[in-house]
Amino acid sequence: MTRKWVYLSRSAGEELTETLGHKPDLSEMKNIFGGKGAGLADMTGAGLPVPPSFTITTEACVEYMKTGEFPPGMWEQTLKALKEIERRTGRRFGDPENPLLVSVRSGARVSMPGMMDTVLNLGLNDETRASLAQLTDNEWFSYDAYRRFITMFSDIVMGLDREHFEKLLGELKKKEGVKTDPEVSLEGMKGLVGQYKALYREHFGQDFPTDPYKQLELAIKAVFASWNGARAIAYREFNKIPHDWGTAVNVCTMVFGNLGERSGTGVAFTRDPATGERRLYGEYLENAQGEDVVAGIRTPLKIAQLQEVMPDIYEQFVRVTQQLEHHYRDVQDVEFTVERGKLWMLQTRTGKRTAAAAVKAAMDMAREGLLTREEAVMRVKPEEVDQLLHPFFDPQAKLSAEKRGDLLAEGLDASPGAGTGIVIFDADRAIELAGQGQAIILVRPETSPDDVPGMLVSKGVLTQHGGMTSHAAVVARGNNLPCVAGCEDISVDVERNQFTVKATGRVVEEGDVISIDGGTGEVFWGALNTLEVEYEEQQDLIELLSWADEVRTLGVRTNADLPRDARRARQFGAEGIGLCRTEHMFFDPRARDAVVHMIMAETDEERHAALDEMLPFQEQDFEGVFEAMDGLPVIMRLIDPPMHEFLPAREELIEEVTRLRCTDPGSPELPKKEKMLQVVNSMWEVNPMMGLRGCRAGIMYRGLTEMQTRAYFQAACRCARRGIKVVPEVMIPLVGHVNELRLEREKLETVAKQVMKEEGIEVEYMFGTMIEIPRAALTAGEIAQYADFFSFGTNDLTQMTFGYSRDDAEGKFLIKYVDGFDTGEVDTEGRPVLFKILEVNPFQTLDEVGVGRLVELCVKEGREAKPDLEIGICGEHGGDPASIDFCHRVGLDYVSCSPFRVPVARLAAAQATLRHASAEG
Ligand code: PEP
Ligand code: MG
Repeated sequence: MTRKWVYLSRSAGEELTETLGHKPDLSEMKNIFGGKGAGLADMTGAGLPVPPSFTITTEACVEYMKTGEFPPGMWEQTLKALKEIERRTGRRFGDPENPLLVSVRSGARVSMPGMMDTVLNLGLNDETRASLAQLTDNEWFSYDAYRRFITMFSDIVMGLDREHFEKLLGELKKKEGVKTDPEVSLEGMKGLVGQYKALYREHFGQDFPTDPYKQLELAIKAVFASWNGARAIAYREFNKIPHDWGTAVNVCTMVFGNLGERSGTGVAFTRDPATGERRLYGEYLENAQGEDVVAGIRTPLKIAQLQEVMPDIYEQFVRVTQQLEHHYRDVQDVEFTVERGKLWMLQTRTGKRTAAAAVKAAMDMAREGLLTREEAVMRVKPEEVDQLLHPFFDPQAKLSAEKRGDLLAEGLDASPGAGTGIVIFDADRAIELAGQGQAIILVRPETSPDDVPGMLVSKGVLTQHGGMTSHAAVVARGNNLPCVAGCEDISVDVERNQFTVKATGRVVEEGDVISIDGGTGEVFWGALNTLEVEYEEQQDLIELLSWADEVRTLGVRTNADLPRDARRARQFGAEGIGLCRTEHMFFDPRARDAVVHMIMAETDEERHAALDEMLPFQEQDFEGVFEAMDGLPVIMRLIDPPMHEFLPAREELIEEVTRLRCTDPGSPELPKKEKMLQVVNSMWEVNPMMGLRGCRAGIMYRGLTEMQTRAYFQAACRCARRGIKVVPEVMIPLVGHVNELRLEREKLETVAKQVMKEEGIEVEYMFGTMIEIPRAALTAGEIAQYADFFSFGTNDLTQMTFGYSRDDAEGKFLIKYVDGFDTGEVDTEGRPVLFKILEVNPFQTLDEVGVGRLVELCVKEGREAKPDLEIGICGEHGGDPASIDFCHRVGLDYVSCSPFRVPVARLAAAQATLRHASAEG
């Protein structure tokens, strides 16, 4: 039996059920009929007024792409479907007496710009034109329809640009001294059709096809071929749409919106696509065909005005759109035509909307009973929540900037939000100018703890090097600062206070204004209009997230280092602190000095004095954090980065010492600098990321982690005494061998007990470890004996599992690994074949296959050893929706992420629960 390639819209649902052996859901319908075809079938099936139509399947297109021929049986099935339409309309295709005219439209599974759009009035030739004139009693109209058809067919099907035709029309209007098309005389229109045909003949060396069947065949082939048009391919590449889906072809009985006053055409959204407000939003153009709306020839009416012009039609239209929303339970974007007072629906699809509209529409639909709460939670994308929490550039402003050629460069989307300001290359200068009220974008080759104060006063940070977990990215995310990192499109010259755009040579100097979009990685020249809504004002979002909380089983904590961040995270719904990077507390310059003293100390006395200097800073911050998190757990991670990060850069010191030795050998600065250089040299490591950091630093620098633990427990006890409910958890970083943990834990627990004794109050606490070294994951059973909790530090775990430096890889090769390499081969359509080593950046989305396997094993063996082991994640993956889904699946207790990702994580965690509920239930 030949395969079924063609389905009548009125019976498509049942027939596909027969073909598949089960009732298809909407996505199956779309796979076979394309979005438009599925919509036509659905609307027709629901009894809505849809002109009789049929759909040739996407599968037919796939076959056509392989052979360049219609698959066997397809054309015959097309003719049969056409017969059925003839029967239903009482007209015949190509019949000079009573002709059937059709539209031919492409329609892939997802709407896709760049593919063939629509050919209207197909079936017209000299004879059918004449009978159209008789049937409509309007000769002018028939010529107008004919010349439109010749234009569209030549342009869309044959590739002869419509400009040639428009030019002839323009000349005619000039000759007749008229401004608009409807003013052209009948004689003029007749002559124009003749001219159009001559143009076609001249261009293609043959007559315009008069046989409607030939017209149809060519149009179908053109739709199939448009799937592989250059723009369509580029769109698929960008949006990661598979190239082998193919497009369906929809053949639909023509209805005319240009048959006088009680005719017209329009497009509408069932809810406002910008705000989500429940009201019809769209426009209607009287006495016109669809293309006139797009062409903007006349100003259309607002859809609400249709109520005044044709109240009966408006009422019916409102009913139909409501029915469609009920059927699809989502915002619809519809096209319709009114032909002599009769409403015809031509298309319906899910309406594209802004993030704000997505939230409002989902919430309203739930309140209206159209969606359940769970469905509303599933409706909004986590990325949309992300968008709502940050200032963003007006999309129109971005588009114009791009058109002006002001998109300078693109880097990594390291921390979302929009920032505009003058370019400054030095942190101290940033502080100085910010103090004078200037908006700053700090631009650095990369950042270090030295730059933090400058970063914090800036509106955004741009770095040339560094990846998604680089210092700049982590600090920016923690402080809700827009950041574009790893922007290798530019080269930063801090000596000259300028950066150069590599591709164009354009130079941007200190004081020039730029705008950065940390959500996309784009860098623009000039100031772009920025929009923002406060979280507290977004009642719908707040309620949606409360519904998400009812559903999710994963906890959501935050990575916050300072009381201010902790408070903000709690407003966003954080249920505790999953990671307090205590070294970030040393960003205060006075605390920094104390750290330097501690490192430089030559005697125990000096060291203890320095530690005593540091302690109050830590204690004060811990108290603030405990206050903010009253009743919730606070994980304090002991100092982690390599110590040299707190000292001046080695190269700079060498330079200064050499300069002083040559120019001012008696300077009192020289011995100080020499000593500093000596210490820096002694601490210098070829590979500091794998060197003396984490628990190793705690073990080697006696007194440091004891001081931190003392400060932490003093803060806890003092807060507890003030009636604050404290839940302290101490986390030991970078453990690779159980004995590291044993040693540190014993030492620190002694301090904790000592402090509680001194303070005369007991608080319940836990000691745990980060799992960020593969060996730790592999020996989880052993490690669990000495840990009350595990927290996956997946930034380091990814770095060490892949062997990719988290500081350098993205700038050097990793992004290329994800973008793919040109193999030098081309596929059957002439496209270059790319080989991607990685599908996604593993520092952004957790690599389930490799790193994830370690996580799974660790969870299993850790819990076998200690069933009540608390397990979470605090690497940057804790705020990434896809990684959160994984965390849910492997049974973690919580995820922890930067404050501004907490709402995103709450929604993503709820969606993970719902997505896997049936599998788990
Ligand atoms: C990690 O490694 O995932 C982590 C959270 O620690 P840090 O980023 O501070 O190294
Ligand atoms: Mg780490």
